[in-house]
Amino acid sequence: MALVVQKYGGTSVGSIEKIKAVAKRAIEYQQEGNQVVVVLSAMAGQTDSLIRLAGEMAPSPDPRELDVLISTGEQVSVALFAMAAKAMGYDACSLLGFQAAIHTDDAYGRARVHDIETERIMMELEKGRIVAVAGFQGLDEHGDITTLGRGGSDTTAVALAAALKADICEIFTDVDGVYTTDPNICPKARKLDVISYDEMLEMASLGAKVLMIRSVEFAKKFGVAIHVRSTFSRERGTMVVAETKDMEKVLVSGVAYNKNEARITIRKLPDRPGIASQIFDPVFKAGIIVDMIIQNTSEDGLTDLTFTVSKSDFHKTMELVSGIAGSIGAEKVMGDEDIAKVSIIGVGMRSHAGVANKMFAALARENINIMMISTSEIKISCIIEEKYTELAVRVLHDAFGLESEARQE
Ligand code: ASP
Ligand code: MG
Repeated sequence: MALVVQKYGGTSVGSIEKIKAVAKRAIEYQQEGNQVVVVLSAMAGQTDSLIRLAGEMAPSPDPRELDVLISTGEQVSVALFAMAAKAMGYDACSLLGFQAAIHTDDAYGRARVHDIETERIMMELEKGRIVAVAGFQGLDEHGDITTLGRGGSDTTAVALAAALKADICEIFTDVDGVYTTDPNICPKARKLDVISYDEMLEMASLGAKVLMIRSVEFAKKFGVAIHVRSTFSRERGTMVVAETKDMEKVLVSGVAYNKNEARITIRKLPDRPGIASQIFDPVFKAGIIVDMIIQNTSEDGLTDLTFTVSKSDFHKTMELVSGIAGSIGAEKVMGDEDIAKVSIIGVGMRSHAGVANKMFAALARENINIMMISTSEIKISCIIEEKYTELAVRVLHDAFGLESEARQE
């Protein structure tokens, strides 16, 4: 008998009818001879409206109380699910995070799962029940409710799959898998059959939002195979798994983009030890995440420093940096919010030369200027003018032949 963990997202449980359909699907799996644990998100839009409610009560609500509030959406879903299954003549049982013994740290709103005691879930499964676990929530060492961050039900599912040693973790969502790029801007985007954890992490962190990043990190750490697929069809989706030798045959697996970055340049600052640290210290202390950093070679003891932050941190960073730049005698600080980052991702880059060149040539053919470049083992990113994002994505998708499955040379 196989044990499956299935997670259904907010749009999949967005109405009474949809919850009934999900219950039916879970029952089918059980009828096929599987033990079934479902993890549910809140009904579509519920978490957002709970957050709005909290906002009406206080400008920055108490984090502990906020978690007590926003975890209720999932409580509704699992109870309705269990009622639906029972009404269809099958046995089911809902469990909240604390009942499923999902232990986390006490970082309210972004808690991390420490461990899960599986006794209760196993006991319910052995009684022949379908177990519906509330996603997104856990219990800290003080006995308080925590939540795992937006999209956290994915992490609940993967963590449960790891703890229960499930045969598979299926993530049911409103898209039918992971695509080579965003199908909304590139009609030739193709669904991938399989993608490695590392590629998925790069795709996700670069803005392809199918899975919560932390769930993929978790899956990688514990070797949980994830199947991302559509709630509304029977088609196979995309497997997110450990890397295999075969994957390296493909140079590039996907093109990602991120319009949420802004660029800051400090012109003509003194080139001497300690300057970078002086500039970035207050930025890091303010909890601002810096993405790319580039420093030019110096001329006459002066250099230029350019880096990117997310658009939401742009004004704050400009303020912090302008202060220090003035005090160390830099010429000026310039900012640019109209930029975007396009990236190509693929484990095959590790063993093939010329990938970067192909990317630069493709952008050049369209007269798209590259402002910054950064590379990692399996990713090359370019900062370009924001208005060219869609064009750049399409051009790169074509250049690497991503519309077909054929091996790329
Ligand atoms: N309901 C939570 C959210 O909207 C968790 C989830 O859906 O995964 O972020
Ligand atoms: Mg989600």
